[in-house]
Amino acid sequence: MIRPTVVKNLWGRAGGRCSICRIELTSVEGEGVLGEMAHIDARSADGPRANPDLDADTLDSYENLMLLCPNDHTTVDRAVEQWPVERLREVKREHELWIALRLSEGSALPFVLDTSAHRQERRSYWKGLDRHSWLCCSLTPLALSQDVIDPLGASYRRLISVLDLPQFVKIYLNPHPNPTLTEPNSNGLVNEDFRRLREGVGYRVEIFRNGYVEFVTCIDELLGRFPVAEMEPGRAVRRTRISDHRLMRCRRLLPYFPFADSLTAQVKALLRVWRDGTLPFRDMVLSTFVIGAQGTCILRPGQSDEVVGRPLEGDEVGYEAATERDVDTQELLGVVLRRLANAFGLELDPAFTAAGELVAPSYLAVS
Ligand SMILES: [Zn+2]
Repeated sequence: MIRPTVVKNLWGRAGGRCSICRIELTSVEGEGVLGEMAHIDARSADGPRANPDLDADTLDSYENLMLLCPNDHTTVDRAVEQWPVERLREVKREHELWIALRLSEGSALPFVLDTSAHRQERRSYWKGLDRHSWLCCSLTPLALSQDVIDPLGASYRRLISVLDLPQFVKIYLNPHPNPTLTEPNSNGLVNEDFRRLREGVGYRVEIFRNGYVEFVTCIDELLGRFPVAEMEPGRAVRRTRISDHRLMRCRRLLPYFPFADSLTAQVKALLRVWRDGTLPFRDMVLSTFVIGAQGTCILRPGQSDEVVGRPLEGDEVGYEAATERDVDTQELLGVVLRRLANAFGLELDPAFTAAGELVAPSYLAVS
């Protein structure tokens, strides 16, 4: 017997929607409802995911129930291997968060508190690796819990070795992460190649057991190509459109196209892990950060290369947004590139041509 308080909590926290397909489960007219309160561990001893250790109260508790539509209820009870207890719990939790998120728009969001510490910790980690500059991209689940996925399974290992590396990394290393460099670590699964880090090239792809995925590239090679002497006021060999005062603070130049290409490749790889690796989340937080690039200006390619915009003031700059698995990749990349360009005092609209080619940013006029 499911207690009335459990029923109310279940329907309320799920927003009256199926936890899997999110279809509305209340009827617009009349009193009928479509929703079914599905048991995660089966109520009967020979049912799907049955656990003989659980007593009747536990089986009918809020923790062991989830709201589903009839179709998905049938699916999860038939395909028990694809829908183990852990996955159902994760789906339920994520769905309830998704509802909470939508109902609390504009106010302090619970998920931000939940994962911002983790994301901050990752950035601090990369910042701690001094004397290098990094382009760090990651996907974080809306809420973190232990052992949501098994990254050591064959599918994630295979997936890592087919990801595309950024163009400038390919020149020095391989087109794809070398499978012999894939290994387990304390977080989960990692593939890294830092053997040429002294030359400013290296990357790390890491898949955590909690579902967090990170792709980091050292961008020193890009930054290192332009000697500082060339950039001193009056001695600049390139036409500049920033005032001498600003140029004084400009320490390094970052050529836009290889930078944007790297960011694009890294974000696409993460989305591929999310989609093809079947990370069990519908929403995740995408983070893209440039770390250790204080005083960097963007170099805009053209007939004569131009230094444009303004040097980066802080040591880190980035953009974060919650995003859906089915988001349009190009659209998402457009937003990310635009935000990063803005941080360098540049304007970028659109980020891509209709044919999908990168567009150079333009100078953001300062009045
Ligand atoms: Zn459904």
